[in-house]
Amino acid sequence: MTGLSDSFQRPIDYLRISVTDRCDLRCIYCMPPSGVSLMPHDSILTYEEIYAIAQAAAERGINKVRLTGGEPLVRSGLPKLIGMLAQIEAIDDVSLTTNGTLLGRYAAELKQAGLRRVNVSLDTLKQDKFELITQCDNNLGDILKGIEVAKSVGLNPVKINMVVMADINDDELLDFATKTIDEEWHVRFIELMLSAGASTTASQFVSVSEMRKRLELLGELEPCLPSVGNGPAKYFRLPHAKGTVGFITPVSEHFCFRCNRLRLTADGKLRPCLLSEDEIDMKQTLRSGISPVGLKQLIEEAVAKKPLRHHLAEGHRPEGRPMTQVGG
Ligand code: SAM
Repeated sequence: MTGLSDSFQRPIDYLRISVTDRCDLRCIYCMPPSGVSLMPHDSILTYEEIYAIAQAAAERGINKVRLTGGEPLVRSGLPKLIGMLAQIEAIDDVSLTTNGTLLGRYAAELKQAGLRRVNVSLDTLKQDKFELITQCDNNLGDILKGIEVAKSVGLNPVKINMVVMADINDDELLDFATKTIDEEWHVRFIELMLSAGASTTASQFVSVSEMRKRLELLGELEPCLPSVGNGPAKYFRLPHAKGTVGFITPVSEHFCFRCNRLRLTADGKLRPCLLSEDEIDMKQTLRSGISPVGLKQLIEEAVAKKPLRHHLAEGHRPEGRPMTQVGG
């Protein structure tokens, strides 16, 4: 069977699965200040249902899956799901995006279950700033420790994602970049997207070109060639650095023309695009006894609905689900 491609000839081989809408942090750019009303437990896909969808997707050409949330590690038994997904023959890469609060506790078990690599969202290296951004008083030290544990058990690479916000954490750009010189840190600087319901505003946006200008105080950014990874980031190395810096430009230079993904929400909706509200209900059809062939047809339908691009650069602010309920 040939792989999937959408109506703009983009190959689609990547599924991002949100396993829960629950999160132990309340990051200002991701979650509305009033929080979100939580989905009832029975409307969240079971691991068996996620497996059935992933299996059908793999048979149609998906070969990479990434688990996200909410915060995926707050869902109990996550290593079990990772083990199930890792056993699907056509899936050769199972990865995770986490805020890192529970990473130290679970890293070894996750690795053993078949997880290959992990992205950790970390927007500051200062405890007081951490509390301001996450609206929680968790210990930042636990996340830093989690990153080290993840590396030590062989999750590779561990990438750090920092959403850069003016007058909130942009004063730490050089601190994060310096970490890539002294240690084998792989830091990706992400432009702030306006997210439904979140309190962040357009005035907090910092473009990647501005970030690069500031980082060049530390030396020339040497492009990493051949380009590493197959995601949206462009990677560079500072002089004599052990690690890398990456830049992700969802707003100033969208990368929709390279989009290779579908998203599955915790309540079983397949989304063709992060920033469009179009969704296909997989859960109800699954619970009404749809066949694996039927599931594959729904996956093809989602792929066919992928829009050409989003319109954040034109000032569009998505409505509907906040980022925390889609999985970023
Ligand atoms: N809880 C997990 C975590 O913190 O990584 C997974 C969910 S989180 C929604 C996934 C990713 O979305 C994170 O890397 C986060 O930085 C990114 N994200 C969320 N809201 C964003 C926004 N408004 N702009 C840019 N990135 C955002």
